[in-house]
Amino acid sequence: PIILGIESSCDETSAAISIDGKIHSNIIANQTIHEKFGGVVPELASRAHQQNIIPAVDQAIREAKIHKNEIAAVAFTRGPGLLGSLLVGTSFAKAFALARNIPLIEVNHMQAHILAHFIEDPVPAFPFLCLTVSGGHTQLVLVNGYFEMELLGYTLDDAAGEAFDKTAKILGLPYPGGPLIDRYAQQGNPQAFTFPEPQIPGLNFSFSGLKTAILYFVQQKEREVPGFLQTHLGDICASVQERIVSILLNKLKRAAREVGVQDVAIAGGVSANSGLRNALIALGEQQGWRVFIPRFEYCTDNAAMIAIAGHYKYLARDFVGQDVAPLARYNV
Ligand code: ATP
Ligand code: MG
Ligand code: FE
Repeated sequence: PIILGIESSCDETSAAISIDGKIHSNIIANQTIHEKFGGVVPELASRAHQQNIIPAVDQAIREAKIHKNEIAAVAFTRGPGLLGSLLVGTSFAKAFALARNIPLIEVNHMQAHILAHFIEDPVPAFPFLCLTVSGGHTQLVLVNGYFEMELLGYTLDDAAGEAFDKTAKILGLPYPGGPLIDRYAQQGNPQAFTFPEPQIPGLNFSFSGLKTAILYFVQQKEREVPGFLQTHLGDICASVQERIVSILLNKLKRAAREVGVQDVAIAGGVSANSGLRNALIALGEQQGWRVFIPRFEYCTDNAAMIAIAGHYKYLARDFVGQDVAPLARYNV
């Protein structure tokens, strides 16, 4: 079947076409308007989605070289995310399905981040463990089937992506700072400074203490040596990244031991981080895991993952009616 996927949960407007489970187009319109505010402004995001959605869908259909009559179903992100943003994608998908008289498929955004692993071979085997690290979530998920997912651990405060972005803000870098920390870290020494590892029992995470520690560290150093931040930016970024990665991988290691799986994956925007990718590959070799890391374009928000999730729901005839509403909170 040909599935149209729509993503609008945060600040990316995206449309994709899958044909029999393969992606033929994946258009992502990034919203740059939020940069000058240092974070996503919900009202501006909804408005930008309204402007972007029709051109994105048109382009996705054109690039896939199909006709819109051939689309078998439309899949959209129902949540979690910003309600105003979700409403744009949901309303568009409903109208499209109604006008063309085709089924409507709702998709959980966090499940879709994980299902991005089924876009291309090789794919992980069920059951596998996935560490989902994004702008709003940090989750350890046992994936028993396409839509059978068990939440084993989650963050008690900030998400890993937030830890990157808030650190970047403290360091005076523009939003979103995660990719910039990654870049500066490549010129720095990860052992230069040591930031604390929180002692959280079980499989849960915490990142808010780290953020505070970094703030105090930078303020104190700047007082002692004015200009310290500028001259040591690479070392600070590398050291912070080293700590965030070690927090994530220590819990992942523990979870893998507890559930006894062999296939281990990462998903979400932070899985684009080169420090995390390299450390996971090394850990996988040491632990004898098969490691799965998404291609860069499928790490951050995209509609290809929504189309793929839609494809598997289509095969299961898992459709929803026109009365479906978006959900700001939606458990994996
Ligand atoms: P959620 O999926 O939880 O609703 P989201 O959709 O906003 O949140 P994603 O688009 O999946 O999140 O990921 C965005 C996050 O990924 C941002 O916090 C961004 O800084 C972070 N990120 C992207 N690339 C990198 C990188 N190379 N290194 C570190 N962080 C990164
Ligand atoms: Mg985003
Ligand atoms: Fe996301």
